[in-house]
Amino acid sequence: MNEKRNSPALFLYFGISAFLTAAVLRFAIEYLQTGKAGFSINDRIFVTLAIGVFLVLIFGRYLASYILRCSVCGKLSQDVMIFKGGRSGRFCREHLIERFRNEFTACSDRMVVIYPSLEMKTGPYVYEYRAIGDIPEKFLQSRFGRTMMKALLSIEGKCARCSRDATVAYFGPGNTLWEFVGMRGKQWDDVPNMEMPAIFRLTCPFCIADELCFSLSRFDGVFSEGIILPHNGSGIFVPRLG
Ligand SMILES: [Zn+2]
Ligand SMILES: [Zn+2]
Repeated sequence: MNEKRNSPALFLYFGISAFLTAAVLRFAIEYLQTGKAGFSINDRIFVTLAIGVFLVLIFGRYLASYILRCSVCGKLSQDVMIFKGGRSGRFCREHLIERFRNEFTACSDRMVVIYPSLEMKTGPYVYEYRAIGDIPEKFLQSRFGRTMMKALLSIEGKCARCSRDATVAYFGPGNTLWEFVGMRGKQWDDVPNMEMPAIFRLTCPFCIADELCFSLSRFDGVFSEGIILPHNGSGIFVPRLG
């Protein structure tokens, strides 16, 4: 995101907006009071309104840029991360990915991880971890849910790519034909009962972190609802529309 704080063009834009807004308001006030439209440009109420609107715009801009900043580097950012315990943090994409990598590789709970494929998607996506205990029973009984549980319960032995213990059942790139599009909000009950290839590999988090980070870093949209990190034990990492 380009940062253009306090540029002359922005001040000009705010000035014109304030002028026009004040003019409309002043017209309305005049019309309501006298039944006539029209006022002098030197009118005291108009000048006060214009200055007031201008200051509100400047303050709003300042407030927005203060709130919407990466908590590490201060760059303007709309990406959010939800940590264990529900605390949220705002990060630029670079620092979002850095934190994701740290937290993801530190997770020792067993999890099913679905490659997000976000490098091919736009829109308000969420990459969300859902603990098994938080997933509705109805979802776990669906074909998709049963496949997820089967994958989770099959985790054992060593990582397919290194000598660490396997803690992840990984549905890698090209393996996610199904999609959470069309679901109503966050309801997992409505996941379509689609056919999906049940091909996954047992890995450790370290060996797939690069692939996941690649996909997350190439996402063209905004993580406005965030990347939701592992919490509450074993679960499923899945992309969905926010
Ligand atoms: Zn940053
Ligand atoms: Zn590994």
